[in-house]
Amino acid sequence: IKKVMPIPKAHYGGRHTVTLLPGAGIGPELMNYVKEVFSYAGVPVDFEDVEIDPNANDNVDLDYAITSIRRNGVALKGNIETRSTEAGVLSRNVALRNELDLYVNVLHCVSYPGVNSRHKNIDIVIVRQNTEGEYAMLEHESVNGVVESMKVITSVNSERVARYAFEYAKRNGRKKVTTVHKANIMKLSDGLFLEISKKVAKDYPDITHNNMIIDNTCMQLVSNPHQFDIILTTNLYGAIVSNVVCGLLGGAGLLAGKNFGDHYTIFEPGTRNTGTGIAGKNIANPIAMLNAAVDMLRHLGHKHHASLIQNAINKTINQGVHTRDLGGQATSREVVDTIMKHIKTAYD
Ligand code: ADP
Ligand code: MG
Repeated sequence: IKKVMPIPKAHYGGRHTVTLLPGAGIGPELMNYVKEVFSYAGVPVDFEDVEIDPNANDNVDLDYAITSIRRNGVALKGNIETRSTEAGVLSRNVALRNELDLYVNVLHCVSYPGVNSRHKNIDIVIVRQNTEGEYAMLEHESVNGVVESMKVITSVNSERVARYAFEYAKRNGRKKVTTVHKANIMKLSDGLFLEISKKVAKDYPDITHNNMIIDNTCMQLVSNPHQFDIILTTNLYGAIVSNVVCGLLGGAGLLAGKNFGDHYTIFEPGTRNTGTGIAGKNIANPIAMLNAAVDMLRHLGHKHHASLIQNAINKTINQGVHTRDLGGQATSREVVDTIMKHIKTAYD
């Protein structure tokens, strides 16, 4: 594993260009809020907007998006729709991650004191394998009425993601990594993932390592989440566990996620929702996408602007300016306006 993720060099004047993939549903409106807040705060970042037509039956748009991310190194992303259900047309979200080899997805899930939730003071990091497992997209109907789906687990990718989790623990003063799996049933595939995480754990004697079956993990997360520190898991279990933890902390509108490879990084809302049902109504929670944008600024080294916007977001949430998903009355617009007011105050 490379010790340091490469960060794109800034252009003249310290500006960065990042690829913007608005995606479908609430994606475009959330991206507009990001642009508005960035421009208000004077963030030295330019966006290269890339639209992917969900109805296209070819991959021209997708290829262009990949080229753009390769060029810029970094993207901010909404959830892309794949409207075609033809077996040949793969999910563009999955294709992007696979093509760019973004082998790890990281969600740092920390409670906001101002959000009403079932549990307080949760701080869990989810480290999820992001390019294989049940998302190999290798399915076929072998005979009429019988569908087979391949779950692919490789030692190379299991080791990369396990190393990432333990290195993360070491660098961030974390104490424990829990490997989440179903190796009691899927003895070969999940067995390999578990075995490799145990092997990697031996290189980190200061960090406790345990493991837990996915079904028990879901129960434990709901009843006693404070036992978890870092969760290391495969692709599909990671998707489930991420949604459970985001749900515990306040839902789809709050937390951000990062997709890392050795060369590129994509930032996006943690639960990867499209939010089609709430699009264009001025009710979507803009926070998750703004948090993703803040993570991106930190990654690019724009620490001042990252903290400025982060503080404004935290003040807004903790003073109770909440959209409906958090039990509040505020519109998306009101949340964004409040954030900008706090940015202005910080400059006054
Ligand atoms: P949809 O069927 O609308 O695409 P999703 O699967 O994308 O739904 O999202 C799951 C749930 O989370 C939906 O109820 C959606 O409205 C909600 N949701 C997703 N993102 C947000 C957001 N940013 N703010 C508020 N609610 C959200
Ligand atoms: Mg959806």
